[in-house]
Amino acid sequence: MSKIKQVTPSAFYQHTLRDSFSCIGRGLHSGLKVIMRVLPAPANTGYRFIRRDVKGDCNEILAAWYTVSDTHLCTTISNLCGVRVSTIEHLIAALHVCDIDNAIIVLDGPEVPIMDGSAKAFVELIDSVGLQQQAWQRRAIVVKKPLSVREGDKLACLLPYDKPWVKVEIDFEDPCIGRQSISTAIDYATVKRDIACARTFGFGEHINALKDLGFARGGSLENAILVNNGKVVNSSGLRYDNEFVRHKVLDTIGDLALSGAPIIGYFNGKYTGHALNNLLLRKLMASGANYDFCNFSDLGYFSRKLLAESRA
Ligand SMILES: [Zn+2]
Repeated sequence: MSKIKQVTPSAFYQHTLRDSFSCIGRGLHSGLKVIMRVLPAPANTGYRFIRRDVKGDCNEILAAWYTVSDTHLCTTISNLCGVRVSTIEHLIAALHVCDIDNAIIVLDGPEVPIMDGSAKAFVELIDSVGLQQQAWQRRAIVVKKPLSVREGDKLACLLPYDKPWVKVEIDFEDPCIGRQSISTAIDYATVKRDIACARTFGFGEHINALKDLGFARGGSLENAILVNNGKVVNSSGLRYDNEFVRHKVLDTIGDLALSGAPIIGYFNGKYTGHALNNLLLRKLMASGANYDFCNFSDLGYFSRKLLAESRA
């Protein structure tokens, strides 16, 4: 008879970092050099950014679905004073999949460093310092009924399901990308192996126009895949055949993590992006009829088993 693995009680509790870590890099869009320090935080803090370069007491910005103020090309959050932090999605995705519920992120600029364009460095840094269990229970958002938002041919849906799951489909004219689709569990082991290393991407013909508008000023072949006329310009090529759609999954994980808790549900996105993902979260959170907020210990057996085993 096969032995049933016991669910580790650790998954029932919130976690923060065991120690702080730092990194230095450039903002993808601002091009500005930024030093980022990520620190442990008390239970129920969530993810809070502090802009060290902003004087006064209005330099703190909570990363949450309702503080998202701009979704053009990246996810930007703002506080009530209008202080912003951009391109938070890869870092938030890394913290979320590494089971970090609470962290303070101190920056001396307006944008999270892009690193290599993926979440790889963030996951490695989190792994290097480790996790600290906290006394408070971890909560989950259980999707109770199907929801969708649509804009033209773009669609984002959330359906009731027994575990966190993401399916994303993209379709680009450039033959180097074309139609790609992926369906995956959101758990530490799967995301670290299949998603975290997928880099952001851009198109050669858009670069100059974007730079004129103040975007992609820090973009380079070191931190993005550049596609030009059906070819990948980066000499090292792609990390996965379908790296583009994998990166869209990474963005989606970061965007959904702004709900404040793991979402037990099935996300299905067709040509979706930061804007639609945030609209979907706003629709989800608009009514208690759409979801249950419950402790991990109250989840169904299979949800708990999957979540607990993902780090085993
Ligand atoms: Zn991205």
